[in-house]
Parts: sequence; C-alpha cells; structure tokens
Amino acid sequence: MKLTDKEIERFWKKVDRRSEDECWEWKASKTKFGYGQMGAAGTVLGAHRIAFYVRFRRWPEVARHTCDNPGCCNPYHIVDGSQADNVADMWERGRGLLGETHPQSKHTDADIRQMRELYAAGALTQKGLAQRYGATQEWVGQVVRGERRKKAGGPFTAPGRGCRAA
Ligand SMILES: [Zn+2]
Repeated sequence: MKLTDKEIERFWKKVDRRSEDECWEWKASKTKFGYGQMGAAGTVLGAHRIAFYVRFRRWPEVARHTCDNPGCCNPYHIVDGSQADNVADMWERGRGLLGETHPQSKHTDADIRQMRELYAAGALTQKGLAQRYGATQEWVGQVVRGERRKKAGGPFTAPGRGCRAA
C-alpha cells in the first residue's frame, strides 16, 4: 500500500510540526484512545503509522511511540516493534494492567511458574523479572524463593524452610 504525494501533503497539514525533540500533535480526528487517524489509500489509517511510513517508506508491524504520547506524529518518536514490545513497554512505564500500582494478585499461576523458570534458568534477574511482570523486586524475590503462591509450583520446600516438617 502506497500513499500518494497528495495524501502525504494532506497528512502534514493536520500535524503540528515542531522541533525534532518535541511531540507533533495530531490536529484532526482521533480515536477514543487518542491516536490520530486519517482516511487515505481507501481506508482509515493511524496517523502515527503514516508518520512512520513517511519517514521510512514502509509500513511498520506495530508503530510504537517512544514518547508515550498516542497523538504524537513526530516520525522521530515512532519506531517499529512487535506487539510484545508494546506490552513490555507499557509494563516498564507502569501503565499496563500489571503496573506497579496494580494488585499483584493479578498474576496468574502460569505467570508465577514462568517467573520461577526464567529465574532458575538465569534468563532474568529478580530486577528484570520485576520489570517484565510489573511487580516489585521484593515481591519477585519472595516468589522465586517460593515464599508466595505455594500452589503455583505445586508441593515445594522453600530453601532453608519447612525442613522441620519434612
Ligand atoms: Zn512524541
């Protein structure tokens, strides 16, 4: 799918262009999530996707804002990424469903198992896990030491604990 010069021209007319460091706000219609949108090439396109296209002359898989501003159309604030990156970003910024302010009980047993596996395999540190899962490092520490969510891992003995009972 290609955009014509006319369409690109029309696109720029709706963008509040500023310096490279600043966000370029979309001035026309937006989705309820705050993303700009424009009809072009016979369909409705996300304005930030068009911004990416104008800079790189290709369409991104997922256009991500490095500035975290959905209405921004500064091509220097938009990168291509997978949906997984998008979710990881949200978590890092604490905006996702599993953000730091969110009750950590939201983690499923599968999450807990995966966290323990990743930690045991040395794939992620406790800090890395905390970031990835939107939890506090303290809580992650308790999880990987088996001090939380006993049922997730099945029968277990926390290191240095529970030996008396065994
Ligand atoms: Zn921006």
